Amino acid sequence: MSPRILIVEDEEPLTMLLRYNLEAEGYEVESVARGDEADMRLKEAIPDLLVLDWMLPGLSGIELCRRLRARPETRNLPIIMLTARGEESEKVRGLATGADDYIVKPFSVPELLARVRALLRRANPERVASVLTIGDIELDRERKRVSRNGQIIELGPTEYRLLEFLMERPGRVFSREQLLDGVWGSDIYIDERTVDVHIGRLRKAINRGHTVDPIRTVRGSGYALDDRYGRDR
Ligand code: CA
Repeated sequence: MSPRILIVEDEEPLTMLLRYNLEAEGYEVESVARGDEADMRLKEAIPDLLVLDWMLPGLSGIELCRRLRARPETRNLPIIMLTARGEESEKVRGLATGADDYIVKPFSVPELLARVRALLRRANPERVASVLTIGDIELDRERKRVSRNGQIIELGPTEYRLLEFLMERPGRVFSREQLLDGVWGSDIYIDERTVDVHIGRLRKAINRGHTVDPIRTVRGSGYALDDRYGRDR
């Protein structure tokens, strides 16, 4: 699952330039040209990051930012504000309204990409961390190695990816279909029961010699990694 970015910008050439470069970095990009349209869109789906222009038709970037911060669902949405050169006082206002970062037009694309990466890393450290940890379970992405309580656990490639996917998003419940999309990819057809088989193998491997199972089966919904696992011991 690549991070999704929404661009809200009414200068079309700039939108195209941003879209091209962000997509080249592997992000999923959507764009709208009006502030009020963005407001509506963000009530339906929330991206991982917002690139928001200051001056927009319909609703200004600053007003949109204020509204987003007032709603619990978007209170922590990472926002990079685009401002015109020389609007120093406006920049300050932008940050005061709750944008996480701002960048002054005209800006260099690599500079913006660096800001996007930094902000996503700050907002969602699990997505980019090289070692994921939950309780006594550790997954080292560089070495492709999993251990529990210091003991190396041998996992098949699918069980490894499954565990990595769950460790990136502890506590979240995933349906079998969502796990198929996220771990196997959405373009191949696999029976949903395959997920149960691999969850079973993963459980067997990580729970050998242990009494606590960190994987929760949520009846009628799917599976989750217990985010309280290892905290209350
Ligand atoms: Ca504008």
